[in-house]
Amino acid sequence: MITLEVVRNTRLSPHFTTVTLGGPALERLRPMGFDQTVRLFFPRDGQIGLRMPTLSNEAWMAQVLLLPKSRRPWVRNYTIRRFRPEAYEVDIEFALHGGTSPASAWALRARPGDPAGIFDMGISYLPPSDAAWHLLVGDESALPAILAILEHAPASLVAEVFLEVPETADIRTDVAHPQGVRIHWLPRDGTATTPGELALETVKRAALPAGRFYTWVAGESRLPTGLRRHLVNDRGTPRGDIAFIGYWRHGRSSPG
Ligand SMILES: Cc1cc2nc3c(=O)[nH]c(=O)nc-3n(C[C@H](O)[C@H](O)[C@H](O)COP(=O)(O)OP(=O)(O)OC[C@H]3O[C@@H](n4cnc5c(N)ncnc54)[C@H](O)[C@@H]3O)c2cc1C
Repeated sequence: MITLEVVRNTRLSPHFTTVTLGGPALERLRPMGFDQTVRLFFPRDGQIGLRMPTLSNEAWMAQVLLLPKSRRPWVRNYTIRRFRPEAYEVDIEFALHGGTSPASAWALRARPGDPAGIFDMGISYLPPSDAAWHLLVGDESALPAILAILEHAPASLVAEVFLEVPETADIRTDVAHPQGVRIHWLPRDGTATTPGELALETVKRAALPAGRFYTWVAGESRLPTGLRRHLVNDRGTPRGDIAFIGYWRHGRSSPG
């Protein structure tokens, strides 16, 4: 359990902001790169200070849930977008979806000195060494993970990347990636689809390269489950070559 504080809050585009957390306790974070995930703890509205769990085994969740709401922090999953160990800083990139849900609202109002905590959960991007190319697919919630995966990838990586974002102004023009990577940006731009639907339908229709490929897909739960079903049933992809992670559920608040 690592207690930190907000160092900076940098708005990136209409639907993204980067909250930089820092503190000497980051000495204890083992950097893994790629889609390294943390549980992020932050105070509820009106709480003074942050009550972090003290247990670092699976019992921390029970410890949090046993706290009365007046002292219980919010807990959400986020990706370490960048880690600068020499500066004792990590960046977390939030996809903003309105100002009312706990994490989205906290990210909008986070100011230097605000307390926050993290608990390392490791990575899920574990490609086999003999895949000819990678298929990376996500909605805005998975954009930080996919960009971090591309930044840590070997120069030899060949990948087709499908990234759905709320609008054209959220497209990044400065993405560092190996030469063999093609990014297909998919802005929804007000079309009335649920997040993830555009990415799913686009990949279903796409002409994909030949050869064994590793898939990593994350986002609104219907995107990873729908894409896995399509790849297995329609393209004959072995189940073991697909990592699929539901990051959030439309219309449902995360537990915690
Ligand atoms: C391993 C993992 C890594 C993740 N990494 C990141 C990351 O780096 N950056 C990031 O932004 N998200 C990331 N997420 C997703 C994030 O945890 C969820 O979006 C989370 O639900 C946001 O919490 P909240 O309090 O804002 O909304 P909640 O209280 O969980 O939900 C409230 C309402 O908001 C809606 N909602 C929740 N998330 C979204 C969304 N992303 N887009 C649109 N509507 C939404 C829900 O449908 C619900 O109606 C990750 C999730 C996982 C599992």
